[in-house]
Amino acid sequence: MINTESLRKILELEHQKGYQDSAVIGGLDQLLRNWASQAAASLNQPRLLKRFQSLKLAKSRYASLTKPRRKEWVQSLLDFLFEFEQGQVAKSAAKPPPPISRPPSRPRVSAVSQSLDAAITGIHGISSTLAAKFGKLGVKTIRDLLYFFPRRHLDYSQRKFISQLTEGDEQTIMANVWEAKLVMLGGRRSTEAIVGDETGNIRVVWFNNPYLVKTLTPNTRLVISGRVSLFGGRYVFESPEWELAEDKELIHTGRLIPLYPLTQGLRPRQVRKLMKEVVDQWAWQVADFLPPELSKRCNLLELPQAISQAHYPDDETAIDSARTRLAFDELFLLQLGVLGRKRDWQEGQPGNPLNTQNEVLDNFLNSLPFALTPAQQRVLKEILADLPRTQPMSRLLQGEVGSGKTVVATAALIMAAANSYQGAFMAPTEILAEQHFTNVCHLLSRAGQEEAGEDYWRRYGGLLAQPLTVALLIGDITQAKKLGLQQQIQSGEIDIIIGTHALIQKGVEFKKLGLAVVDEQHRFGVAQRSALRQKGFSPHVLVMTATPIPRTLALTLYGDLDLSVIDQLPPGRQEIKTKWLHPAQREKAYTFIRRQVAGGRQAFIICPLVEESEAIQAKAAVAEYKRLAEEVFPELKLGLLHGRMSASEKDEVMRQFHAGTLHILVSTPVVEVGIDVPNATVMLIESADRFGLSQLHQFRGRVGRGEEQSYCLLLAENPSIVAKERLDSIEKIQDGFALAEEDLKLRGPGEFFGTRQSGLPDLRMAKLSDIALLEMARAEAMKLFQVDPTLAKAEHKPLATELARVWQKGSELS
Ligand code: ADP
Ligand code: MG
Repeated sequence: MINTESLRKILELEHQKGYQDSAVIGGLDQLLRNWASQAAASLNQPRLLKRFQSLKLAKSRYASLTKPRRKEWVQSLLDFLFEFEQGQVAKSAAKPPPPISRPPSRPRVSAVSQSLDAAITGIHGISSTLAAKFGKLGVKTIRDLLYFFPRRHLDYSQRKFISQLTEGDEQTIMANVWEAKLVMLGGRRSTEAIVGDETGNIRVVWFNNPYLVKTLTPNTRLVISGRVSLFGGRYVFESPEWELAEDKELIHTGRLIPLYPLTQGLRPRQVRKLMKEVVDQWAWQVADFLPPELSKRCNLLELPQAISQAHYPDDETAIDSARTRLAFDELFLLQLGVLGRKRDWQEGQPGNPLNTQNEVLDNFLNSLPFALTPAQQRVLKEILADLPRTQPMSRLLQGEVGSGKTVVATAALIMAAANSYQGAFMAPTEILAEQHFTNVCHLLSRAGQEEAGEDYWRRYGGLLAQPLTVALLIGDITQAKKLGLQQQIQSGEIDIIIGTHALIQKGVEFKKLGLAVVDEQHRFGVAQRSALRQKGFSPHVLVMTATPIPRTLALTLYGDLDLSVIDQLPPGRQEIKTKWLHPAQREKAYTFIRRQVAGGRQAFIICPLVEESEAIQAKAAVAEYKRLAEEVFPELKLGLLHGRMSASEKDEVMRQFHAGTLHILVSTPVVEVGIDVPNATVMLIESADRFGLSQLHQFRGRVGRGEEQSYCLLLAENPSIVAKERLDSIEKIQDGFALAEEDLKLRGPGEFFGTRQSGLPDLRMAKLSDIALLEMARAEAMKLFQVDPTLAKAEHKPLATELARVWQKGSELS
């Protein structure tokens, strides 16, 4: 038996001294050659001997190596020594140890039967403090807790003997504690233990955890799971998960371990322990609401089993099956709800068939200074096919910023007026409403003659048999004027009313509402539609969005709407030159802006994204604005826009920017900048790496709206790999739909489309990129909808209840 100990010490010393070949007098080579000749004789394992020979110690040339090569070499020699020592301990430990036995989860019947919808404080061991922490995560009831799924799992199911541990993998051992002591590591009181099994010993450290020392008395049997790292040539577990081997069932080690999303004050071990108890006790009480033959046909796990396996799975395949079942539920319920919405809307009350066979439309189209693009023509045709029907139209119009949706919407509004119906045009903000008013008036003034008007209303002759009146109803006008307008709307004197979504929510009474155009679908949900219904109207509804949504996604999320897409920009639109700059080029960007301003143009600067509260974001924006105004552009006029400003303050700044009194608009990302300032040619985005692709594309769409060549400059301090991909994509791709697909790929669907904003149920398990499951859920929903559209049959009662529950929750969130 040869002595490895002293050689290992020398190599460790060499490492500490920085590989200068100074650990032994005379250099390492001499020592190694000597050692090699002794060692060769005592190596009797073929595998080790082969490794040993590959090291070529007898001809060691350490002195001639570069430092990095020396480092590698010392490492590999230390690895070898370690293996060699382990080999001495257990020559026969090649077979893996048996898995740690674990009783299968089985239903436990609770003594007290409590409703799943009871507050979690009803669970033994959940204090009101703990409940408050869960509350922050949206977990309020026992059912919520069951649906509080882990982000992912760590695979700690691979049990190894200590001699079989390999660096870097997640592995589990079962071992005896030989000794444990308190040590200082990096200035923190920590616990260090030496544990062993029949094949060897290993050091384990828990940083910053001095309390563990009390638990780890000698001869305690432990299960330890985690990654093994190499430290000074020896393996060590650094802050691994652990638990006592005597514990009945493993929760933290020796299996697939759930990792939950955590909030401050929730400790992982505590959450896992709690979740285990809750799942064991309650999952079995969840009623499976899917019709059994459907589950069978689709090969889905039973619900209680799926919930239980989603938390504490038996193996990797079990996670997949659990996810599939739970994702199916989400998509299926989403589809059922969406189909129900469509039916309610279209069959509840007959709508207002409009006559579209008239000259009015042709006159309007002929008056335009341009011809409609083929895409605009197609979409207009789709709308004109809906309007004469008794069923109210329910259509989503998608089209990039600047693709010409407003013209199409205006044509539809004129059709309503031509049939003596009123039309409402609603925008998410007052600024945008004002802009629509300006645009619509501009279009009408070419087709007819302006006969009368003030800032907030206009009357045009020559378009229809009777004059056509357009009005803007926003908070800005005086109370008296507002009351006057409301009266005129009620009496039917006003044909087209433009405003925010408040138009249909607050005290506005229409005489005869025939068409509602809604800009940006995000904030127009079920509530708004039922508000319309309650007023006795079933207008045709045209929802417009500039957020490009891939088709499958649109069908899923907006299955209640028919889909029209303007997938083409008017001719002559310039590409917006997009460039991602390094922070060192910031000055260059500023110089560029100065030059554009000198040429009579304007610029947007989007402030760095601050993720804390809106108040903090506003503060950061004020600071950035000051810096830019005082230090960078002292000679220019700058304006600031942030979410903490009042609506009238924001409007004022926007008006000034629009009028050209401000050269540069500094804005936070929260502010709706869906504004049309054709003279703005530069969009500079700070911390661009932190925005999603769709958002960047929206920002970029703020420029390039006029004749001039426009630019989008992206600054990113330290982009991650994924962020770099995003920045590359936005530089290269101009088309919003292509970007949306890209975004979906890069970000994953959950983030891509915040379903919360739309009043739809949340999707947590479902991946919208999983087209196959999505289509299966759609097909099943349609099949069921055909036999039992109101879910009235007895066997569909549980499903009806679940549907109502899920959608109720969705609308609470919106
Ligand atoms: P969107 O509402 O989709 O953002 P707009 O309807 O506001 O787009 O149109 C953007 C600009 O393009 C407007 O100035 C509009 O007059 C103009 N426009 C619309 N359609 C055409 C077209 N077919 N040809 C040329 N210009 C068009
Ligand atoms: Mg628009």
